[in-house]
Amino acid sequence: MVYFFMTKEHICEGVVLHCIDFRFRKILNDYLSSRFPNGYDLISVAGGVKPLLADNGENNFVLEQFKVSNRLHRPEKIILIQHEDCGAYGGSATFGDFDAEQNFQKAELEKAEEFLKRHFSRQNIEKYLFCLSGEIIAL
Ligand SMILES: [Zn+2]
Repeated sequence: MVYFFMTKEHICEGVVLHCIDFRFRKILNDYLSSRFPNGYDLISVAGGVKPLLADNGENNFVLEQFKVSNRLHRPEKIILIQHEDCGAYGGSATFGDFDAEQNFQKAELEKAEEFLKRHFSRQNIEKYLFCLSGEIIAL
């Protein structure tokens, strides 16, 4: 069986950052495969944008992954995905209710967007919150 036809020219449409949480793997795969049928670069790290914001220095390992993706594959879009009940933030219980959690994650995504724009001014940045129900909220 042939899964992919691979060429030397390898430009991808998007680079995606999201959490390692296995509960979201299927919906992420489904969503991202339909958005980027030719593939995408994937950065999967506990907490999604959290480690990006924890160290704003040039040695940030998540930032380094974006730089490598940009250098090698020149993605047009940066997709940042946070999710409901993220253990890296202590889970949903930390926030009290869903609105508070959504507002918190929106602020995290906006901080990450602002940070990344300083390094990657050419790309569009999209921000999402994935919910346990399967709902995908654009923020
Ligand atoms: Zn998580």
